[in-house]
Amino acid sequence: MKKYFIFALILILSACSTKQDVVKSASVYPVEVNKMAEGIEIDIVDLESLDSINIVVNKTHDLPSDYEPEDLILPEVSTTKKLYIREVIHEDLKEMFNDAEEAGILLSITSGYRSYSYQKTLFNNYAARDGIEAASRYSARPGQSEHQTGLALDLASQSGKCTLSTCFKDTDEGKWLNANAWKYGFILRYPEGKEEITGYMFEPWHFRYVGKNEAQKIQDSGLTIEEYYDTEK
Ligand SMILES: [Zn+2]
Repeated sequence: MKKYFIFALILILSACSTKQDVVKSASVYPVEVNKMAEGIEIDIVDLESLDSINIVVNKTHDLPSDYEPEDLILPEVSTTKKLYIREVIHEDLKEMFNDAEEAGILLSITSGYRSYSYQKTLFNNYAARDGIEAASRYSARPGQSEHQTGLALDLASQSGKCTLSTCFKDTDEGKWLNANAWKYGFILRYPEGKEEITGYMFEPWHFRYVGKNEAQKIQDSGLTIEEYYDTEK
């Protein structure tokens, strides 16, 4: 009898939840999101704590100017310059670079963690050159860059072909990353045709670590982070 009751309960739960159901906490913007995936599986994802690997940072969700991750390290993979990343992404990053290399894909990181003040200098320089409106399409204002989290990487090929250019998507490295990065916890953060939602132009080189579980779900959904977590309501 008990078995039937549990089965019925699972059926009811499955019937009234979908993958996109998001239950926000009672407080203001989602401190936690409880997602009912696959009927009864419940994932709790922290979108707001500064050190959470799932923190949302964009044009409406700023980081404090004094935020700096405490676990910054020099990565043990190819980079184009001295740069730092969060240690929490390191194992998956090394696995991705190793597997890519075995497939003949030679990757390099060209940008990792950026401090608030460095982002401020960058944005101001771009704005002086191209105007604020144009600069805002491709560069984040200080406090609004995912690079300040230490979880975002600009990736390139070791050959340097199409580095930080749209044509990176057509390189072997760009194609490999587009097809495989999610398996290692990294998602393409600013996909083509999603500028209205993400606020940024297509960047085939910018990948954001969210952990393997969430990366797979976001990839399967075909949605951006803003859409998947419904953060802009
Ligand atoms: Zn970037």
